[in-house]
Amino acid sequence: MSSTSRTVTLLPGDGIGPEVINAARRIVDACDLGIEWEECRAGKAVFEEGDATGVPEETLASIQRNRVALKGPLETPIGFGGKSANVTLRKMLETFGNIRPARILPGIETPFSDRAIDMVVVRENVEDLYAGIEHMQTPSVAQCLKLVSERGCEKIARLAFEVARSQGRGSVHCVTKANIMKLTEGMLKRVFERVAADYPEITPKYILVDNCAHQLVRVPEEFEVLVSTNMNGDILSDLVSGLVGGLGIAPGANMGLHACIFEAVHGTAPDIAGKGMANPTAAILSSVMMLRHIDAFDAADRVEAAIALTMQQGKLTGDLAPKGMGVGTEAFTEAVLDNLGKEPENWVRREHKPLVLPDVGECESVPKTRRDIGCDLFLEGRVGPGELGAKLEELAEGTALRLKIISNRGTVVYPLTGAPTDCVDHWRCRFVARDENADLRHSDIALLMSKVTEVYRMCHHEVLMENDGARAYALAQGED
Ligand code: NAP
Repeated sequence: MSSTSRTVTLLPGDGIGPEVINAARRIVDACDLGIEWEECRAGKAVFEEGDATGVPEETLASIQRNRVALKGPLETPIGFGGKSANVTLRKMLETFGNIRPARILPGIETPFSDRAIDMVVVRENVEDLYAGIEHMQTPSVAQCLKLVSERGCEKIARLAFEVARSQGRGSVHCVTKANIMKLTEGMLKRVFERVAADYPEITPKYILVDNCAHQLVRVPEEFEVLVSTNMNGDILSDLVSGLVGGLGIAPGANMGLHACIFEAVHGTAPDIAGKGMANPTAAILSSVMMLRHIDAFDAADRVEAAIALTMQQGKLTGDLAPKGMGVGTEAFTEAVLDNLGKEPENWVRREHKPLVLPDVGECESVPKTRRDIGCDLFLEGRVGPGELGAKLEELAEGTALRLKIISNRGTVVYPLTGAPTDCVDHWRCRFVARDENADLRHSDIALLMSKVTEVYRMCHHEVLMENDGARAYALAQGED
């Protein structure tokens, strides 16, 4: 028995989950590390029993106690519960970083089989558009808030560099859309730049997400570690899984300071559930990540090499084998068990060191001076911009603010531009202080709001601020 001996929470999950998790468990057990499994429930059956979270308290408590879980996919049945049980687990346990490695394995035919693909996508896991803060602004215009915090960026940027350091990687690509979303996506880029100074042995690289998708297909071997905000990372990591053979072999980990949950990228695959056909590789490779997390490096290397050898021997499940040649979950698992301790020819072992999870403490910027210099009022109305602008100028008379511009879906439409903007009933009306040196009081903004809302319905407002003299908001398209 190894010194790594410990208890791990096991969530078999729904659909193909129990089949693939059982395969992973058998293989981990065969490594003789003395791991005890604490089996817990979550997902479909829990929802159907009336628990709207899909995650019973005792399951959360088990993961918090053991701090490590191996998890199968969970289903959120339609008509039960509001939120996905997966998202609940990630959020409740603050697993802020999602790690998805992708490596070409021998014996798998893809258009990229001859390419030296070996990379890791590190994705922010709890913020961004996936914070799920959505509102109908008007009956016909929806909004989703993209929340990106400096703290979230600090944690994910450091995690990416720590992943690179633990695996001896030479570079990390920071993938953003900072050219368009300068404050949110730009935050990750700025924090990444600062954090990079603490990892001088690793080259920081920058790429826009659209070009990154393009380059991942053209020259995937040039990427080692990628870091991104939540949604970009979600899309890119699926793209990267596709390069190396698809969902059947894509492992993942949700990392946090309180708990780490290891799980395949794929879902419950209901079409093949219970048929003994599912590919357990993604679940087994997720358990390899778990073994490294608990410092069982040698066992992890042995399992990874056994999978590679099994594939090189042509024993592939139906999702990867030529038509009619696939083996079932059980036969594949037996083959991996037989191959434990062996490795394929020319197999390159990547050295792993313990991954240090960043505990960032206080990291938020604190400006020396702050000033409120205006406000954006978001108004609903089926009016033209000319009529709306003239009325708002009139309503603002006698207040500390004046109308600067009106934009519609981000494009300036007042003062009138003559551009053929297709306006919807959602107007962002930007008011600024008449005295440009003023620090507005909220009562100034409240007075303006009370006058405007007597005539128009307001869906929300934003205060325009300056931090240390720098604009803390974006300009509209066409605003100067
Ligand atoms: P999916 O379950 O990943 O399955 C998509 C397809 O991929 C399957 O129909 C199957 O394709 C193939 N596939 C996936 N994993 C495979 C494996 N291990 N072996 C062989 N083939 C595999 O995605 P989905 O159909 O979009 O989602 C189904 C359910 O899973 C949904 O309820 C969703 O919410 C849930 N889900 C859960 C998680 C999670 O718990 N982390 C993640 C994603 C989705 P073939 O048609 O070729 O058989």
